[in-house]
Amino acid sequence: MSDAIVVGAGPNGLAAAVALAQRGLKVTVLEAADEIGGGTRSSELTLPGLLHDHCSAVHPLGVGSPFLRTLGLERYGVDWAWPEVDLAHPLDGGRAGVLLRSMERTVRGLGV
Ligand SMILES: Cc1cc2nc3c(=O)[nH]c(=O)nc-3n(C[C@H](O)[C@H](O)[C@H](O)COP(=O)(O)OP(=O)(O)OC[C@H]3O[C@@H](n4cnc5c(N)ncnc54)[C@H](O)[C@@H]3O)c2cc1C
Repeated sequence: MSDAIVVGAGPNGLAAAVALAQRGLKVTVLEAADEIGGGTRSSELTLPGLLHDHCSAVHPLGVGSPFLRTLGLERYGVDWAWPEVDLAHPLDGGRAGVLLRSMERTVRGLGV
């Protein structure tokens, strides 16, 4: 017999389920899809061996979340990948505005 039912095993449902379980409640998570993860899932949507993100691809709030940080997700195989270039926006003339983790380098690249 469950104390709490969580509908949906996306990141928010899973976080809620963990928070409830940490407080000693028996939790049942119901998920309609074949796999957990909701919008954070990745799978071979087009070609074999080519992984596509279903929705979310960039997770600054995952890294920054005080709650997720308490869970030690690295122990369960989470490995945050840091891109060389965080974001690029194409501009006229074949140029691009490029966002780097270094504010100084980003500013230098943008110019005046
Ligand atoms: C195209 C796109 C791109 C995105 N890119 C980013 C990004 O780069 N970075 C970022 O931080 N966020 C991104 N997001 C947002 C992010 O995906 C969502 O904020 C996040 O997935 C929400 O999590 P959630 O747990 O609330 O819901 P969801 O991830 O949607 O999970 C809900 C789960 O509930 C299940 N469910 C629904 N109804 C029922 C039911 N009746 N019974 C059982 N199960 C049910 C669903 O199958 C699903 O697994 C993007 C969203 C979209 C659509």
